[in-house]
Amino acid sequence: MGREINNAQYANLLLCPDCDLLIDKVTLSPNETAVCSRCQAKVLRHPKNSVNKVIAFALAGLLFYLPANFLPIMSFELLGFEATNTMLNGVSQLFNEGYYWMAFLVLMCSVLVPLFELGLLLTIALQMKFNKTNSLTTKLLLAYQHLSEWGMLEVYMLGILVAYIKMITMGSILVDMGLFCFVGMLVSALLTASCFDTQHAFDQLEANA
Ligand SMILES: [Zn+2]
Repeated sequence: MGREINNAQYANLLLCPDCDLLIDKVTLSPNETAVCSRCQAKVLRHPKNSVNKVIAFALAGLLFYLPANFLPIMSFELLGFEATNTMLNGVSQLFNEGYYWMAFLVLMCSVLVPLFELGLLLTIALQMKFNKTNSLTTKLLLAYQHLSEWGMLEVYMLGILVAYIKMITMGSILVDMGLFCFVGMLVSALLTASCFDTQHAFDQLEANA
């Protein structure tokens, strides 16, 4: 059974992410950044309007999600053989050819995790906007921190580019709408994550507790 340790004396301290120096927490005004006195790493920042930006980018990402997964990403013609491929099609093809782990990984990292990540950040940001943070927000924040290690849209994008470059010399290859939506989802997800201010979320949770 987990034992709760009271560490209220550390509540007003921050840890430098680069050199582990303990620093007194400061209240920043919008667009201000606090840097570590020892290594100059960014310790805390206060992005302006971060909650609204997270809501906007997460909604944009979710709008791109369905077409990114269900519309064809590429069509190609090789030696008279024509095919179009969607993201989910790719997963089922990997599975049918016996690459079960690969299919599972692609499904997790490129299809399911981005959806959960965008959904989690949108829910947390909405709770923050309407000042309705509660114990559920803590659970969602922790879930997001675990999940974000699994989202690998960038790696998948790199895979698509490598496949495109390799296949372009072998036959005619056309980039389809799904790929543009995938890039849209990738950019929206990156912007959502970069605008999200975890420290601000925990501060608001503490204030509402
Ligand atoms: Zn430091």
